[in-house]
Amino acid sequence: MEVGEVGRARAIQVQGMLAVLRHVHAHPETTRAQLARDLGLSRSSATEIVARLHALRLVEEGDAEPTGARGRPTRVVHRHELGPVVAVVDISHESWRLAVAHLGGGLRLLRREPHGRPPSPDQVLAQVATALGEVREQYGGRLRAIGISVPGTISDGRLVAAATLGWRDVDMARRLALTAPPPVVVGNDATMAGVAEARRGAAAGAGVTLSLTVEVGIGGVLLEHGRATTGATGAGGEFGHMPFGDPALECPCGARGCWDVEVDGRALARLMGDPPPAAPRSAAEAVLRRARDGDAAARSAADQVARNLGRGVAGLVNALDPHVVTLSGLAVAIMDVAGPSVRAAYESGLMAFRRPAPPPLLRARFHEDGSLRGAAELAFDAVLCEAGLQEWRRATRPATAGPA
Ligand SMILES: [Zn+2]
Repeated sequence: MEVGEVGRARAIQVQGMLAVLRHVHAHPETTRAQLARDLGLSRSSATEIVARLHALRLVEEGDAEPTGARGRPTRVVHRHELGPVVAVVDISHESWRLAVAHLGGGLRLLRREPHGRPPSPDQVLAQVATALGEVREQYGGRLRAIGISVPGTISDGRLVAAATLGWRDVDMARRLALTAPPPVVVGNDATMAGVAEARRGAAAGAGVTLSLTVEVGIGGVLLEHGRATTGATGAGGEFGHMPFGDPALECPCGARGCWDVEVDGRALARLMGDPPPAAPRSAAEAVLRRARDGDAAARSAADQVARNLGRGVAGLVNALDPHVVTLSGLAVAIMDVAGPSVRAAYESGLMAFRRPAPPPLLRARFHEDGSLRGAAELAFDAVLCEAGLQEWRRATRPATAGPA
């Protein structure tokens, strides 16, 4: 072959390997025949590509979980036991967690530590850096990327502000001493949770998803086919700071009339005539419990917050035109207690042409670990690409002699 042809053949080979790898990542229990059908490959091409990926310790074939049906057990293509991993960290309002994820999305939680009070970035990030160092030592060259989820606004990889942590302008990668490879992805927790829902959760298969999370305030993201739309610097999705609220109220972000302060524990406390709560999330849960138990004042506060939620969702749906909306965090608890109020405000806020078939409001599938799962997905994006595959080939010698 001519040099140009060799280059083209190699490029086609790489694309075939990536297509199979991404498919195995998305469908961890797929057979070689199914994989060939789904990707439009001939059986011989599928066999050849799987053999190449096996030689690179990326996939292997094994028996599927028994189904009880008679006959030969089905052979499935799944991750190689010595394949790549990504490390993921979720820093939340009260604690941080560290996990590793494998090809196929499997997640193994390694650490969970509560923050000191008040949580200082120096202390928390030093702990996380040490824990990540231990993961590097344990996994060596198998660790291919790191994903970090934080409850704040991220712009160009920097944490601009995390109001609930009291953190401002933190260069996450530098503080975590992650300036050398592997690649690091830093993102907002609601964005990460949305990615998990769109790729493997309640919105899997939906084209355009609006994912919303209420914790302290409301965050979210618009996703198209699992890809988050986060703006020019990554700071998009701050839906909580749209003026869907009372202009008399000032938001900690510096703006007035934000939706953020109308849908969470701060709003419920205000409506109950209580002082601003130190822990808005648990305060919200307490009010919602009382509402469920029939307390009239709590009921009325829950209904008001539910209407505030539904009305804002309608505004976003009018603007963004998603196929589905996923709700997670406190939004699920609000739906449980005052679902009809959310739905009534949602439907009356929609433009008339949308009302016959409004985008459904779906409960998120991942409640506890959505942000970890989403961070793993984005970290794997840095592995399952041409550069990632090339780096992996360089870093690992084939375990057995495979096709060249
Ligand atoms: Zn605001």
